[in-house]
Amino acid sequence: MIIKDREELEIRLRELSETEYSGKLNWGAMCYEISMPQPTDYLCPVCGSITSESGFIVREIEEARKTVLEIRNLGYDAHLDEREFCATCNENDNVDHEIDRGEMPIDEFIDIMKELDIKNPELVFKFRFESDSEYHTARSTIAETYRCVLEFLNGKDHYINDRDGTEPIHDNIHILQKMLGIGLDLPVPDKRKLYWADEDEDDVDDNPKD
Ligand SMILES: [Zn+2]
Repeated sequence: MIIKDREELEIRLRELSETEYSGKLNWGAMCYEISMPQPTDYLCPVCGSITSESGFIVREIEEARKTVLEIRNLGYDAHLDEREFCATCNENDNVDHEIDRGEMPIDEFIDIMKELDIKNPELVFKFRFESDSEYHTARSTIAETYRCVLEFLNGKDHYINDRDGTEPIHDNIHILQKMLGIGLDLPVPDKRKLYWADEDEDDVDDNPKD
């Protein structure tokens, strides 16, 4: 049984990738206060136990959770797996809640994490078009990426980013490739490719540094 027509979405994504956004652009807040992320209680929706997490991350999780609910309300088979953030529910041996980068430069830190195959906890988004097919999964704890998916599925050509700015979907095809697994043959600007290359997914090009 087909839940929603994948073909139709593939065609629309291609059209967006080949055109320029013509709507009104709002750049959003250029300058906003960045406060130190305070540790906050993360309440696991599965088992109810509490794990300490940065306040910034907890906000992203809550926002993503709300957005995925809206995606489900559109009739899509979408789920958000939050278990990696819960010290009790986490089943991924490679996920470590206690990593502290300390004074180490970020590049060096990422290299060491890669070498040891240790990951920070992430939200895992699961999505499928047909009730009998496998779920496409994507790891992302960036609330914006969920908003991009929601608005694309809503038929919109833009979404609002974290700074209240307008993000044309035309320029963010890579997010939908990652989150929905569609439009994989569409070209993505090089800088976007590099941005996602940190995530060791099989379908991402080999990191040129390797
Ligand atoms: Zn739990």
